[in-house]
Amino acid sequence: MRTPVPDYLEQVLTECHGDEGGERADYIPELAQAPLDRLAVALCTPDGTLYSAGDADVEFTIQSASKPFVYALALEERGWKDVYSHVGTEPSGEAFNEISLEPESGRPRNPMINIGAITTHSLVGSPELDADERFEHVRAGLSAFAGRELAVDEAVFASEMETADRNRSLAYMVRTTGALIGDPLDQVEGYTRQCSIAVTTADLAMMGATLANAGVNPISGKRVVSPLVVRQVLSVMTTCGMYDAAGDWISAVGIPAKSGVSGCILGVLPGQVGIGTFSPALDSVGNSVRGVQICQRLSDDMGLHLMGAVPSGQHTVRDIGPLTLDGREATRVQLQGVVRFSEAERVMRALTELPEGPDPVVLDLSRVAQVDQVGRRMLLEGVRRLHLDGHDIAIVDPEDALPDPDEGYRPTRLSLGEL
Ligand code: GLU
Repeated sequence: MRTPVPDYLEQVLTECHGDEGGERADYIPELAQAPLDRLAVALCTPDGTLYSAGDADVEFTIQSASKPFVYALALEERGWKDVYSHVGTEPSGEAFNEISLEPESGRPRNPMINIGAITTHSLVGSPELDADERFEHVRAGLSAFAGRELAVDEAVFASEMETADRNRSLAYMVRTTGALIGDPLDQVEGYTRQCSIAVTTADLAMMGATLANAGVNPISGKRVVSPLVVRQVLSVMTTCGMYDAAGDWISAVGIPAKSGVSGCILGVLPGQVGIGTFSPALDSVGNSVRGVQICQRLSDDMGLHLMGAVPSGQHTVRDIGPLTLDGREATRVQLQGVVRFSEAERVMRALTELPEGPDPVVLDLSRVAQVDQVGRRMLLEGVRRLHLDGHDIAIVDPEDALPDPDEGYRPTRLSLGEL
């Protein structure tokens, strides 16, 4: 059998191929030359399976879709507090190239607009690095996200440098408040190189999958940034990633995303998928017209809206029933699926119904796929309390989803065959 996903992506592109208008960005002369009919979509799963359709291997410059990754590198190296003292996290409500500084702190409002991204660029690597060294640091970091060595499109870089006066003035402006480190012209040059890194739509999906996979590139297996950094980056993408349409985007599409003036969109659904789209014609706020359509389709068809989560706790306790264990009457509590807070809360409620007394309780996790930190703490606390009520507890946990606590009561471990 052939998986239906590529056919589905082809169909989405066919349906989003019409002439819906839009203009190429022309303030960077080289971008105004991009062929208007280029169209691509790619999806990458957290285990590295890539699906694509259209011109997914054609390179374009990453532009603003580099901003979340460079923010991630700065956070990884300096920590949240230090980075936050230089760049805020509030949507600006202004165009991407405005002087959006917080009046009191003088910080750029967020790292997804130019003034914030130039500042973030200056925070990557040690302050002693010269402009070339800092850019190389950024390039290597973005390459780690992509799982391949990325390079600069020199023609686009030269073209943007000719017209980068607005970014130069933003950099000088933000140096006056102390948020930008180093020489403003060097930082604009490094930032412009960063924006001129050439990627494909497939690369964008893979870079997104590294974020969706909590910071580990699915193919190289290398950790690029920590899960907490990913959480911070995706939060800021959610509120500030789609220019001045971030609110409309998150309510309609519901996928943390960042778009770039080359016509690309990077989308990341944590734990599920990295998305790349490319089509050069932009709408009036600067987002790719067809890219937005494609993402809307993907979200609607595949239920990818972040806020569309369905309750899962009601199925977590699969069964509660009697069992004979070593000739003694026991109760078996069989769980299934993933156990996070809401599922563990259901389990706690079920455990409170068990009668007090000496009968052993067998907690059977053989159908549990995963227990997160909170789920683990709650299940272990439930085990401890049942034991205080007089029960002996045995756990069946073939996948080691619920390791023993470091101290305190340790339940007996049984294999499935011993039941
Ligand atoms: N290099 C572009 C600029 O600074 C990036 C803008 C964008 O993609 O939003 O103007």
